[in-house]
Amino acid sequence: MDTNLDVFNHFESQVRSYCRAFPTVFVKARGSQLYDEFGNEFIDFLCGAGSVNYGHNNPEIKSAIIDYLENDGIAMGLDFHTQAKRDFICKFNDYILMPRKLNYRMQFTSPTGTSVVESAIKLARKYTGRENIIAFTNGYHGMSGVSLSVTGNRYNRQSVSYSSVSRFPFHNYLGNEYDEIGYYRKMLTDNSSGIDIPAAFILETVQGEGGINIASEKWLQDICTLAKEFGALVIVDDVQSGCGRTGKFFSFERAEIKPDIVCLSKSIGAYGIPMSLLLFKDELDVWGAGEDNGTFRGNNIAFIAASKMLELYWDGTSFENEVRDRGQVVSEFSARMKKEHSGLIRDTRGIGLMQGLEFFDENLCGRVSKLCFKNGLVIERSGDRSQVLKVMPALTIDIPTLKKGLSIIEFSISESLGLKFKVSSESIEDVTAI
Ligand SMILES: *Cc1c(COP(=O)(O)O)cnc(C)c1O
Repeated sequence: MDTNLDVFNHFESQVRSYCRAFPTVFVKARGSQLYDEFGNEFIDFLCGAGSVNYGHNNPEIKSAIIDYLENDGIAMGLDFHTQAKRDFICKFNDYILMPRKLNYRMQFTSPTGTSVVESAIKLARKYTGRENIIAFTNGYHGMSGVSLSVTGNRYNRQSVSYSSVSRFPFHNYLGNEYDEIGYYRKMLTDNSSGIDIPAAFILETVQGEGGINIASEKWLQDICTLAKEFGALVIVDDVQSGCGRTGKFFSFERAEIKPDIVCLSKSIGAYGIPMSLLLFKDELDVWGAGEDNGTFRGNNIAFIAASKMLELYWDGTSFENEVRDRGQVVSEFSARMKKEHSGLIRDTRGIGLMQGLEFFDENLCGRVSKLCFKNGLVIERSGDRSQVLKVMPALTIDIPTLKKGLSIIEFSISESLGLKFKVSSESIEDVTAI
């Protein structure tokens, strides 16, 4: 009754989630550091689940926002034409689309990840005149109506009556010998398979919430070929793995594919500001005016932040190289952990700065993440059993801070083992009760 968390416990709904894993009250954040009201410092390996890829309160983005506000730049304008939006569109074309020879039309949807997915699916259904959507095991696409029906997790998923969704096993779900594409093709060819020819396939090239599961380049290419065979579209949900998270701006660049539709959110607003962007091939633009509407579409402050982000990081390829180098530091660390703790760590995987350490025992993984927090690191878990420790630092993190964060993981793993073998059960309860 007398802690600084009382207000939340008494008045805020039980639905709250992340805060349960990090039970303190945060007040400040800068770059890769978070500070609570007692002045404790934490390194951030969660990054707003990938929505502050460029660090908290990135100083250059911040001053662009402050300048805009100081000059009474229009903040709310529905989907009006604004200078801020025009600048963003031009920069996105110049820095992102053109160098990658991508030719997409842009739709600014309602500003959350789940709404950009809704819009993508609605568009695919309208364009193809088909209902069914193929989604994959362990996929995560959001928590509103349609998005929620394509999400994989049983705890999260809910079917909405108008949405038909068929679920296929993701790459490697059944082991690496399994001919997934052959199975999909058979299901789509056989009139009695019980599966309707889909409007679209929706997938993440690296499943974030699903446990850092990586689709191979070949699988991605084969999906595109298969979709084409059946006149279906490919939607890449790059809400989490996009905006540089895997080392390239788009996560699908490594496979050299050109998805029909791409969903961006989380870090596209550059500063943790809500914004979403749906990209699709020109011929798919079958919307009537206002057919996919919303009050908060095209947040002008996000446009200012995003334009600055493009200017700062996506002019040329040097930033991609930096992310790759930082990713390499994480990969080497993970490989060493797996070697030193082969009885505990089942697998390590990742691309760029989207990496995971999969534990055999999800309870141990939970204990390690809690100890990390106690030791000054904010890090989350993902996967079907929350068995994967998810390493997602800011793309701009400096190497010493990155290494310090990794050493907290290492220390916490050792600490969790120490506790396991302690005679007194009190200290175990102490930790797990956090
Ligand atoms: C987070 C996420 C979403 C949902 O975004 P919200 O902003 O939480 O609605 C959708 N798809 C992927 C891949 C995500 O990681």
